Amino acid sequence: MSIRVHPCIFWGRMKLAKLGHGPEIFHTLQGEGVSAGCPAVFIRASRCNLHCIWCDTDHTWNFAGSPWPHEKDATPGYRKHDPAANTVEMTPEAAASALLAFDCPRVVITGGEPLLQQSEFLDVIRQVRQTRPDTVFEVETNGTRVPEPELAAAVDQFNVSPKLANSGMPASLRLVPEALAAFAALPQAWFKFVVSQPADLDEVIEVRERFQLPADRILLMPEGRSADTLDRRAAWLAERCRELGWRLSDRLHVRLWGDRRGV
Ligand code: SF4
Repeated sequence: MSIRVHPCIFWGRMKLAKLGHGPEIFHTLQGEGVSAGCPAVFIRASRCNLHCIWCDTDHTWNFAGSPWPHEKDATPGYRKHDPAANTVEMTPEAAASALLAFDCPRVVITGGEPLLQQSEFLDVIRQVRQTRPDTVFEVETNGTRVPEPELAAAVDQFNVSPKLANSGMPASLRLVPEALAAFAALPQAWFKFVVSQPADLDEVIEVRERFQLPADRILLMPEGRSADTLDRRAAWLAERCRELGWRLSDRLHVRLWGDRRGV
């Protein structure tokens, strides 16, 4: 006898990164950007439309059989990830319950790229706020998808991180004019650029001017997955931030916990 499954069973299910036996939802401190240091519950979307060569969450997209190069390819024993072992599918209701299990008024929706699942995350936000109306929501995005009006209205802070050439991505994929224009028009959007070398600054200046990003909401953050690398890069980046009048962002979680997941 064959069993028929109604398609509605799968409707509205979202793809989250997997940590241990459940979704990657964990209580920590925000490590980057304008709210660095704030206690927050993170929820990590699986899947991304970009494939940055230095991505530190490549378990959300760098799956076996995919052609994308990654700097970890040179690490002995490194293997591309198994999608089934790194994905949890669940309803927004279940995700909201998991977030509410933590006594924390700030949630950071990260990825991967969360804006690939806008209606599902909007559902999560609404359901959490039914129980805890004052919950603050941040969304971390690569800035390549236009946020839907309902999501834009519901999110307290967008941490937009437009990618530079150092990501290995072509400009046509990483810089989407209509998406960057939409974020530039949102007063709660901040723009964080990941910088690897001094020459990256010329590109940041060009991108900021081209897309009219607000100068008082720009942050520069050193790329690095160790405190040593961050220290080396922050030394010259701090000087450039002073000259340009932009903020410097550290990566607090890397200093506190290294390149580990779920903290
Ligand atoms: S956009 Fe973000 S999550 Fe996606 S590949 Fe780049 S760094 Fe990783």
